[in-house]
Amino acid sequence: MTYSEDKNRSGEYLRLALSYLIKYDLPANPVNYTVWYEYVSGRNLKLKKAVDLSIKSDHPMDGKCIENFYQKYVTDGDRIVISRLLTQINLLLRDITHHILETEGDLAGHGKSLGDLAEKINRVHDFEGIREIVDQMLQETRGLIKSGSRLQSRMTVSSEDLKQLSQELEKSQKEAQTDILTGLANRRGLEKVFELERIRARQNMAPFCVVLMDIDHFKKVNDTHGHLVGDSMLKGISKILTQHLRKNDVAARFGGEEFLVVLPETDIDGACAVAKKIQKALAGKEWKVRESGKRIGAVTVSMGVARYAMNEPQEALIKRADDALYQAKRNGRNQVVTQADTV
Ligand code: GH3
Ligand code: MG
Ligand code: MG
Repeated sequence: MTYSEDKNRSGEYLRLALSYLIKYDLPANPVNYTVWYEYVSGRNLKLKKAVDLSIKSDHPMDGKCIENFYQKYVTDGDRIVISRLLTQINLLLRDITHHILETEGDLAGHGKSLGDLAEKINRVHDFEGIREIVDQMLQETRGLIKSGSRLQSRMTVSSEDLKQLSQELEKSQKEAQTDILTGLANRRGLEKVFELERIRARQNMAPFCVVLMDIDHFKKVNDTHGHLVGDSMLKGISKILTQHLRKNDVAARFGGEEFLVVLPETDIDGACAVAKKIQKALAGKEWKVRESGKRIGAVTVSMGVARYAMNEPQEALIKRADDALYQAKRNGRNQVVTQADTV
């Protein structure tokens, strides 16, 4: 069997990327992996230049530094993670097929279905597609283990590799839906939440509500204390936000310093109560800069609450929450306004 030069090259990048992880003693998480994969492939010129410069100036290549590179230079993280996962699948598939071809007996059927899978891989471009392939490969290897063939022990190893791949896939998928700074859901994560909540609302005929929240005068925090302090504050605010939510509620970072909370099976009054609780908790907190102890004071937020109207597009729901938020700002900030107050 022959393999395209592309696949061999990807395998080589994979190994080189790994060697950098080892060299700088970095955990093989998707961010570290992606940065080094991009670096060794040389495709991302800006990233390569920046990393080379850092290496030359003996800058420590720790997790923080790599994450900076990722945020600055890796704009299409998903595409890279997907392509890396596909490379791993290809390598594994090659191994399994190779074992089958080496073994005599009536394994031709398995060889064929793996061949079909190899075909399919060329058309995969998202996490869901990868999940399907990994599941089918797992099924194939399990079938081979059960068949009691001489391949049994080799297949057990492959099956373990596949399980690991499957876990990694899940992790990557989750990371793609998570905001890197705050750990909350990002806009993509929010899409998934909306998908589910719209179905749940239809099934249970129960509404859900959203709360759009924007920090008041946040520019001032950045201007007075610097962007990094602003960033830490975004993390702290996210933490307080989630502390006031139930298990099924979801908080997402909607934009820079805007957050969106989705409250399943909640009516406007209930949502308003949650929003006010959060508003109160935040307004009562005194912030200070951790390193210097310098006082920042209290930071307030403004919120707009809206209720999902059955079958409406999500943009319409967010627009109502945004109108209410706008009203809260106009009314003087540090308050909660519901959609009903805006009409
Ligand atoms: P307002 O009360 O009208 O909301 O005033 P504001 O200053 O908060 O105004 P606005 O909401 O328009 O401000 C957004 C500011 O938030 C701009 C930017 O400096 C800051 N910001 C946005 N994203 C980030 C981020 O990721 N980190 C930090 N530190 N600041 C951010
Ligand atoms: Mg804003
Ligand atoms: Mg603001």
